[in-house]
Amino acid sequence: MSGPDEALLGRIDARFRALHMPGARQSYRALAQETGVDERALTFLEGVLSAELEARELHRYERNLRAARFPVVKELGAFDFAAIPSLSKARVEELVTGRFIPAHESVILIGNPGTGKTHLLLALGLEAIRRGYRVRFVTAAGLVNELLLAQAELRVPKLLRQLAAFDLVLVDELGYVPFSREAAQLLFEFFAERYETRATAITTNLPFAQWPQVFGDETMTVALLDRLTHRSHVLLLHGESYRLRESRRRNPVPQGAEANAEPREEARAR
Ligand code: ADP
Ligand code: MG
Repeated sequence: MSGPDEALLGRIDARFRALHMPGARQSYRALAQETGVDERALTFLEGVLSAELEARELHRYERNLRAARFPVVKELGAFDFAAIPSLSKARVEELVTGRFIPAHESVILIGNPGTGKTHLLLALGLEAIRRGYRVRFVTAAGLVNELLLAQAELRVPKLLRQLAAFDLVLVDELGYVPFSREAAQLLFEFFAERYETRATAITTNLPFAQWPQVFGDETMTVALLDRLTHRSHVLLLHGESYRLRESRRRNPVPQGAEANAEPREEARAR
């Protein structure tokens, strides 16, 4: 071998390290010298290791995407920021970097129905998976059901541990349905467990002032909001429902017939 190329050897070291193959990493240089392999053979070795790394990354991405249980896949690229001027694109782009995940911060998307909260939530989740994070999507109602079932089977701690294995849990539609006291308590436990140890992102149609009505207990709600909003990114999506706007664009309503076209929910949340 005519003097090993240090840059190439450095890349091979890095590949072995990423593949968790310390034995091979420590011995391949001596073996290469003993057997007199040339730079072409080492380039071949680097190629083989890179192929294995890529295959593992793809496999991990696919596994994490299945584990996330997204109802649909939504891309950030398909999100029309012009439709929702109250939303800062720069803040969304900052979240997409995923820095809030190892920082164990929370994301709260607040807005009336149809403004793209779930779309953004799913897109954030997808980007996090692309960065190698483990993500799980749940609706608030689904999470409550899982927690209540676990409670009945005396395995709430186990369920919370399982959820703690996810770097990011996405909780969609908090506040759409009022909870029983027991359910609210379990949800509180879930958020308390993740507080400052894991990242969580939620969507809600409720301004914070209305949360006590949904959670029942005022003191518990205050404690919950305290944990959720501490070190959190709150994004407001206020505007017209994207769906309504789109359907109106497709089937224009005659002038005057429009006044009562929006569901009451929307008018109230504004
Ligand atoms: P929300 O969760 O706020 O009720 P969704 O995220 O479910 O709203 O949005 C409703 C539908 O409209 C979805 O199909 C979503 O992809 C689409 N949508 C909403 N806002 C936008 C937007 N700004 N750009 C592109 N599509 C959007
Ligand atoms: Mg939604």
